[in-house]
Amino acid sequence: MTRSTPPRPLDIEAEFPDLADHRAVCTRLHPRPGVPKPGESSVGGPLLWPMDELWPVCRKPHPRSRGRRIEDVHEQRRVLAQAWLPGDAGPTDEERGVLRSLGREHRVPGVDDTDPIPLLPLAQLFVGDVPGLVVPEGRDLLQVLWCPFDAHGSPPAPDVHLVWRTAAEVGELLARPPLPALVGYEGYAPEPCTLHPEQVTEHEWAELLPTDLQLRIEEWEEALGEEADEEEPLSYDGDFSVAPGWKAGGFAAWGVTGPREVVCPCGSPMELLLTIASAEWGGVRSSWTPLADRARAGTYGLNVPTRVSVGRGGHLDVFVCSADPTHGHEPSLQ
Ligand SMILES: [Zn+2]
Ligand SMILES: [Zn+2]
Repeated sequence: MTRSTPPRPLDIEAEFPDLADHRAVCTRLHPRPGVPKPGESSVGGPLLWPMDELWPVCRKPHPRSRGRRIEDVHEQRRVLAQAWLPGDAGPTDEERGVLRSLGREHRVPGVDDTDPIPLLPLAQLFVGDVPGLVVPEGRDLLQVLWCPFDAHGSPPAPDVHLVWRTAAEVGELLARPPLPALVGYEGYAPEPCTLHPEQVTEHEWAELLPTDLQLRIEEWEEALGEEADEEEPLSYDGDFSVAPGWKAGGFAAWGVTGPREVVCPCGSPMELLLTIASAEWGGVRSSWTPLADRARAGTYGLNVPTRVSVGRGGHLDVFVCSADPTHGHEPSLQ
């Protein structure tokens, strides 16, 4: 099903014509539970991975002997979704028992803190499906993997690994990609989702706009707040700036740390490649909820189709160098 973002509640550039200089187009990915194939764009789906290429591993030092089995994480979500179908009252006593047992941590004995663990596939994006996707010259496929342990850096942030490919060169596929025995954090185990990309217009994060424009927007918001009877009046951040959910390109939202310049070691500015998000939209009444989902917007799990969770229910922006995306990447956890 096509996912379409409703038109913005009003024409913000008619209110503030100078915002036109701070406009960009991003591609909302709209992941939804499905059965993606290796040749398709996906979150949590199988990767188009050549048979003769080594699978990437994490060898960075951190504990890795305790965690949950991936199959338990998926099964627990399935049981919960079933128990919370519309009309159901939640898990029965029997289901609670099953959920407890699925939620248990396990141990792999004899594992050292630097033993290699296979990275988990997170997403793959074909440039033909995702307009505007940043790719190095001659490549047409981005693959994203990450370590399934929340143990990288301080405070801990997901450790993302990017692979760029030319799909036509892949040839025979790796039949059984390795999987880690345990995941340290369940929010790093995505559910398989197909994508329904859609281009939408964004405006730059408010704190990065010229001060004069910021002040005019604040005054306008205050006036709106006084007029509105609703609990949640329109706001620049909430309705007109950065689209929520998984997306490629466009502007970054800096709600937790505040904005900072992202510069490549080569000196070039970095640009937003991909946003990995915990939720596709915020409240039940978010203006960004796709039209196809509006009627069921409050349904259990509907706005968290990938079950990925980063930060405190926030998002992870991955930036790459604007001169050459293979220079490396820089994360921003919000
Ligand atoms: Zn790791
Ligand atoms: Zn660079």
